[in-house]
Amino acid sequence: MCLDQHSFCVSIQNLYVCKLLYLGATPILKRAQSLQTSETIISKEVLERLLDVEKLKYCYECGICTASCPVAELLGKDYNPRALLGKIFLNPKDVLASDALWLCAWCYRCYKRCPQALKLPEIFLLMRTIATEQGYTHPFEKALEKIVKNIPLPLVTTLVCFHPERAGLDKEKVLEKIEQMYKKCSKTEKERMAAKSPEGKVAVIGSGPAGLTVAYELSRKGCDVTIFEALPELGGMLSKCIPEYRLPKQVLTKEVQAIEDLGVETKTSMTVGKDLNFDDLWNEGYKVIFIGTGAHRSQKLKIEGGDLKGVIDALDFLWDINSHKKMEIGKNVVVIGGGNVAVDAAKTALRLKADEATILYRRSRGEMPANPWEVKEAEDEGVKIEFLVAPKKILGENEKVSAIECVRVQLGELDETGRRKPVPIEGSEFSRETDMVILAIGEVPDLEFLPKEIELRENGAVWVNPITMETSLKGVFAGGDAVTGPATVIEAIQAGKRAAESIENYLKSLGG
Ligand code: FAD
Repeated sequence: MCLDQHSFCVSIQNLYVCKLLYLGATPILKRAQSLQTSETIISKEVLERLLDVEKLKYCYECGICTASCPVAELLGKDYNPRALLGKIFLNPKDVLASDALWLCAWCYRCYKRCPQALKLPEIFLLMRTIATEQGYTHPFEKALEKIVKNIPLPLVTTLVCFHPERAGLDKEKVLEKIEQMYKKCSKTEKERMAAKSPEGKVAVIGSGPAGLTVAYELSRKGCDVTIFEALPELGGMLSKCIPEYRLPKQVLTKEVQAIEDLGVETKTSMTVGKDLNFDDLWNEGYKVIFIGTGAHRSQKLKIEGGDLKGVIDALDFLWDINSHKKMEIGKNVVVIGGGNVAVDAAKTALRLKADEATILYRRSRGEMPANPWEVKEAEDEGVKIEFLVAPKKILGENEKVSAIECVRVQLGELDETGRRKPVPIEGSEFSRETDMVILAIGEVPDLEFLPKEIELRENGAVWVNPITMETSLKGVFAGGDAVTGPATVIEAIQAGKRAAESIENYLKSLGG
């Protein structure tokens, strides 16, 4: 039977909240107000800003934020978002001087699971900004040390997960600092490695952050790891789609090289399921296979005109740009979707000199799956967003897109995803001119190559035991977007680390 992890989590959360309410738990804010002293560093105004911005009503300290936080798992006792939130109200001075403040990685998993829907990353950002303004920069350096020591791909994660620049720190200086720490760290890593003996051959399919983490962790433990990657370059979405202006290629190359230097073998332009299959891997003596193939199949928008010239999938668009393919950018670009991919595509179009880039999203701002901060940055850069609009038809002239016909919608009943369903408003159709339509309506894992013994979940992702990350086929583990659907780099790293630990135990159990 497939365990639906999300529904399980939600029902546990509900139980927890009921219990807390029954026991008369005091919301953290109420206690905080009674504990405020004249020494408190957060003024009433700032506290009100937190309340206003975040709609922070109550935190009952249920701990779900910490239990779901990937960084809390990666850093253990060094990071506890629930405790940090508590301290903001009870002892804010301590928080400004604490390295923990800098360790939130913006994945928003805490927010998605919080029974009160508190946006912890936004609260922490406000505190980070105050810390920077008041000159508390030393704690950030301590945080960096922890990131470098405990999290694979520290340069990449600093750029795409931790975002110190959002609180006003200089990005270049931060990267320089990490590189110095990193060099020291990898040297000691290699010295430690030399003493260990190989424990078994491991095949990793996919070289995104999940696969790279498994390779990094296991090669340090002496395993013989080979990565099989379908694309000509390593890095998964990091190299394929995250725009160069957010993650410079040389940063990624350096970190991937450091992992290869640990002795990891890499085979690029090798698609498992096409160039070789699972039986080939077992026959070549691999004892374990890790599936880290991400979610790369774009969902299709089934409307007329989807095959006109000038209509392109967002992943293909970003990939073409990242691989420096020559491409004609429209003047008036329309992006359909509401996630981070849509936001990146629109921002990229503007950078490539489109006159206008407009995102059309069929729900309201509050429902946008993109991170609020990414949306804010995009709007600051000039991206326009139209909410409650659904595309009906793409119109063309001479086989090339010339306009898009849309309809205004309103939100109705909840759908199967728990969000309110957009319902077209009769007679509200309109059309707008465009010469390029980028489709960013979501991605799903492409897992047709898997042997049938590997169970999939209803949403088409790989089913794994959430503790061990083992699939329903013995010796085969999985993690990252292939298991969760599109998520974040830090979550893929967490999954990779969890899987690596289980793989090590599994290999030991084989007597390797
Ligand atoms: P991927 O990174 O997707 O890697 C999977 C790899 O497997 C790919 O290289 C693929 O080619 C390979 N593969 C697939 N099938 C096969 C096969 N059969 N044989 C061999 N190889 C195969 N996350 C953040 O945290 N911050 C961000 O700012 C951010 N921005 C993003 C922007 C964009 C445009 C996109 C698309 C994603 C972004 N993400 C971001 C999400 C993040 O990139 C992913 O969550 C993460 O890369 C998932 O890691 P993964 O290792 O599971 O898979």
